[in-house]
Amino acid sequence: MQRNHFEAEHEAFAESFRAFVDKAIVPNYMEWEKAGISPREIFTEAGRSGFLGMAVPEQYGGGGVDDFRFNQALDEQIAMAGVTGSGLGITLHNDTCLPYFLTYCTDEQKKRWLPGIVSGELITAVAMTEPGAGSDLSGIRTSAKRDGDHYIVNGSKTFITNGINADLVITAVRTGEDRHKGMSLVIIERGMDGFERGRNLDKLGLHSQDTAELSFADVPVPVENLLGAEGEGFPQLTQKLPQERTSIAVAAVAEARAAFENTLRYVQERKAFGTTIGSFQNTKFVLAEIATEVDVAQAFIDRCVDLLNAGELTPADAAKAKWWSTELQGRVIDRCLPAHGRGFIHAIGRNRPLSLNAWVEKHIFPGAYPPTLGEMMAILEPYGFSVLDVENLRLHYATTLRHWLLRFEHAADRVAAMFDDRFVRAWRLYLAGSVAAFATGSLQLFQVSFARPQDNAISWTRAHLYQ
Ligand SMILES: Cc1cc2nc3c(=O)[nH]c(=O)nc-3n(C[C@H](O)[C@H](O)[C@H](O)COP(=O)(O)OP(=O)(O)OC[C@H]3O[C@@H](n4cnc5c(N)ncnc54)[C@H](O)[C@@H]3O)c2cc1C
Repeated sequence: MQRNHFEAEHEAFAESFRAFVDKAIVPNYMEWEKAGISPREIFTEAGRSGFLGMAVPEQYGGGGVDDFRFNQALDEQIAMAGVTGSGLGITLHNDTCLPYFLTYCTDEQKKRWLPGIVSGELITAVAMTEPGAGSDLSGIRTSAKRDGDHYIVNGSKTFITNGINADLVITAVRTGEDRHKGMSLVIIERGMDGFERGRNLDKLGLHSQDTAELSFADVPVPVENLLGAEGEGFPQLTQKLPQERTSIAVAAVAEARAAFENTLRYVQERKAFGTTIGSFQNTKFVLAEIATEVDVAQAFIDRCVDLLNAGELTPADAAKAKWWSTELQGRVIDRCLPAHGRGFIHAIGRNRPLSLNAWVEKHIFPGAYPPTLGEMMAILEPYGFSVLDVENLRLHYATTLRHWLLRFEHAADRVAAMFDDRFVRAWRLYLAGSVAAFATGSLQLFQVSFARPQDNAISWTRAHLYQ
């Protein structure tokens, strides 16, 4: 469907970023995937070319244009090139972290930090999640106790995107007892005493994105590094969620489109039984359905971006966008992958065949930020549900899980009646993997080690590889 969303300047910006990605990221991407991190220079190179801090006022060196379509243009090019691992650091910096600095910094803080954020010399991260607190953000325990003109910060964070590279970490800390009113945001800077990086976590995909543990032992953080007012952390985080969710939704639809286009190209070239596999009727039906779904989703997402630009995007609509588009991404990749016999080979670049890598990453990407549970609560809020009242949802999830388990058992019994033992074992392993994925949230995205070596196979991708 024809798209009127971008104007000439956005198209030109996308084109120049596309050239940047092809030159600076694609040729190095596999090496960075192996290294488990992208180099800091990719930020400074992006900064030099004007791809960071487009919304930052010109007086601080930025583009001075607060129009999310420019961010969207970058996010789409990253997805189309299949370099989400490296690209995620840049989108997190622009789409998720920057808004905190623009909205909550004092003039003095802006002078200190914005120029470096624009140039890429100061890489940003946001640290909410802790080993003991994920979906339930209000359960964080990292503390910041006031001592004269400093806060003394103690605690740890995990799963932090840009965790190794980051210079400025927007850190959610506890400054009071109240679960919500006792939360504040402070900027913890590289080099502060007692601030250490832990492991760069070994994810199943998006390897070139450094997702890390951080620890804080009596870190003296000057009170000038408080973002906004003390006790405002929880509402600050909630207020910034619509843009973060839009960013994820934009990328998810772009990933779905990339999967569709790569598959379309492949089936038009690949021959079987004397003709292209794209000429078989089933392939055409599948592709026609996917093309429709992607176009419909794109229209919704573009509308969300317009509303975001106008300051009118509601948390519920942003949650709908993220939930719908990430589910779509999953469906599309699931349906496209079987067309590619080479699906198990890692592939990147514009003319790539679809690979299982995209399939793994589609599950990581939505999981990377407050998960579907958060979206569901946000969607229900306009209908009178309280975001903080999760009891109904907990009940729903428990019922759904029981329902799934029964269905899986039933399916396994039917399979057992039809096939030999080896197949049945693989099938049960797959089911166990799916249940584990549901139950463990983002943990499944990392190599989960169980007690017995033979159970190691019940990690998420391995279970799926047995399909
Ligand atoms: C690649 C990656 C990057 C990330 N980057 C960042 C980052 O930059 N900064 C950051 O702060 N965090 C980051 N995260 C962490 C992410 O935000 C958390 O994983 C997320 O908030 C979920 O927390 P959890 O993994 O602890 O799951 P849990 O909170 O332990 O949840 C486990 C499961 O239980 C379900 N569940 C939880 N509570 C309920 C309930 N009340 N009712 C029903 N079901 C429930 C969840 O939906 C989930 O399926 C990242 C994660 C990943 C995987």
